[in-house]
Amino acid sequence: MIDIHCHILPGVDDGPTTLEESLMMAREAVNEGIKTIIATPHHRNNRYENNKEQILQHVSNLNEVLVKENIPLSILPGQENRIFGEVLEDYRNGEILTLNNSKYLFIEFPTASVPKYADRLLYEIQIEGLTPIIVHPERNKEILENPDILYNLVNNGALTQVTAASILGYFGKSIKKFSKKLVESNLTHFLASDAHNTHNRTFALNNAFELIREDFGMDYVYLFMENADKVITDSAIYKEIPLVIKKKRFFGIL
Ligand code: FE
Repeated sequence: MIDIHCHILPGVDDGPTTLEESLMMAREAVNEGIKTIIATPHHRNNRYENNKEQILQHVSNLNEVLVKENIPLSILPGQENRIFGEVLEDYRNGEILTLNNSKYLFIEFPTASVPKYADRLLYEIQIEGLTPIIVHPERNKEILENPDILYNLVNNGALTQVTAASILGYFGKSIKKFSKKLVESNLTHFLASDAHNTHNRTFALNNAFELIREDFGMDYVYLFMENADKVITDSAIYKEIPLVIKKKRFFGIL
């Protein structure tokens, strides 16, 4: 299994602080059946800056330790970019990292809102030859209130990644319900852990895939797993035509 969103590098963001904590996460990942992780440290989220060169160095250091410790897990480089106006400029300057140097680029929105310029920027990212993947849209307040925002972005070519813990209800009932809506409306293309540690932000990928299997069937499990594989091999992913999520009406009918 491949996890395309994970904070496993030590001392770079709000993931593990020490190498020992990273290794604890690595062992837990292996127990979950994960063989490959894309390390995606926060970048430009107002708290952390991790540019391409720094991330590549950290990834190579951690891989060396994993080999020494006999932990059968490989770490690939990635970056979780908070949306900002100059992301393409920085990409051209070599500070921005796509997922495993593919065409797929993680973009994170602020928790409460979607910037007005998001539509235009996601379009320009595609003009640059990259494919934006919006991380955990199910945890964005504005999207929860107005799913059409996400529908339009996906309809215009953006991809999205739902977090395992969201679909399991660890962020509350409404986020769980909305995550499932995103799956059934073809508004998400990846399931990933966004794990930060081994206590309150864990992998939970197996349980999430089990839930997907029960609620949507094995086809969806394969779809998400294969799409993760397509990212690391820089191939075209599978996607269906997105559907509009109907909002609650007066009589509580969805
Ligand atoms: Fe993250």
